[in-house]
Amino acid sequence: MKKHIPYGRQQILDEDIREVQRVLQSDFITTGPVSREFEEALAKKVGAKFAVTFNSGTSALHAAYFALGLEVGSEFITTPITFVATANAGLYHGFKPVFCDIEPDTGNMDCATIEASITENTRFIVPVHFGGHPADQENLHQIADKYQLKIIEDGSHALGARYKNRRIGDCTYSEMTTFSFHPVKHITTGEGGAVTTNNEHYYKRLRQFRNHGITKDDLQYKSEGDWYYEMQYLGFNYRLTDFQAALGLSQLKRLDQNILSRREIAAFYCQEFKENPYFHIPVERDYVESSYHLYPIRLKEDLIPYKRKVFNRLREEKLGVQTHYIPVYRQPYYLEHGYMNIQKPHAEIFYQSEISIPMYHSLSHEDQKDVISRIRSVFETL
Ligand SMILES: *Cc1c(COP(=O)(O)O)cnc(C)c1O
Repeated sequence: MKKHIPYGRQQILDEDIREVQRVLQSDFITTGPVSREFEEALAKKVGAKFAVTFNSGTSALHAAYFALGLEVGSEFITTPITFVATANAGLYHGFKPVFCDIEPDTGNMDCATIEASITENTRFIVPVHFGGHPADQENLHQIADKYQLKIIEDGSHALGARYKNRRIGDCTYSEMTTFSFHPVKHITTGEGGAVTTNNEHYYKRLRQFRNHGITKDDLQYKSEGDWYYEMQYLGFNYRLTDFQAALGLSQLKRLDQNILSRREIAAFYCQEFKENPYFHIPVERDYVESSYHLYPIRLKEDLIPYKRKVFNRLREEKLGVQTHYIPVYRQPYYLEHGYMNIQKPHAEIFYQSEISIPMYHSLSHEDQKDVISRIRSVFETL
């Protein structure tokens, strides 16, 4: 029987389990000292001043958008080739996501399509570093500067990636960067996420938003005693538990090795597939180092009409391929809320041609070779 090989999966080692168990048997199981330790280690790893953990990448986005302190009706520009959460997190606040188009090869926001989407209500831009390939940060930053817009990076795919030798998350080009620790991402806490920033004001707002809007510092009124706290904003309970933080902290120690493995797998795939007549392999701009969250192949034009067949055949071969993503504006909820006539040509072609093949750091060399031969046989017998 053929072994099922998914497109992505977590790696949990005994050392991870020991760390989680240690915290489960300690006094503190929800947000406490280990969460703080995880935040400090994460901030240090990516080169940011602060990190704040959340119970998902989605709540991290929700909080980051909150931290900007914008009015209802604000617009932000993002990419349609992302997980719905990037756009949804804005809807939670009554903001309007406006979708620009993407670069046909990287799948990242195409900076040349941003300016046409800017209106007097535009306040910020949310790039997603698709598949782990950093977006065109300098260009984005220039546009943001010109129109006085903020940038929040959705870095869910890009923990460990580099742009011009800087780690994604150091916020050189943005106010904040969000991460997700879902099991298919680079490190996992089960569910979980984080925001990094260099700005203390945002840092405080992120922490407060995570905890119902409650604070014991920066009081608006006079303290009435040691029990006193104030709820100053309408926040949520978005806290990560300490045993999840222990898992994250333990996983973070292996991040660099993890990225190296992914890059080696990508290099092997690229070498094996580089001259194939059926699909394009992912590109990597010379000033980035992708963290290869995904390995997205794109069918060549003449094969696009056969995507469904190819996809089904790959699944029959027990390859857990996936498509990233259905353009967000095509989702029924979006169609019903004003996006009926939105279509971005490159995003459409990307959707019609993209297939994510197995990519995760614990994918063995044997399995990589298996993936390659199963893919070859599918295309050669179409
Ligand atoms: C995974 C992901 C998220 C959401 O993260 P969760 O932890 O699942 O809530 C947001 N944006 C992108 C691009 C993602 O890939």
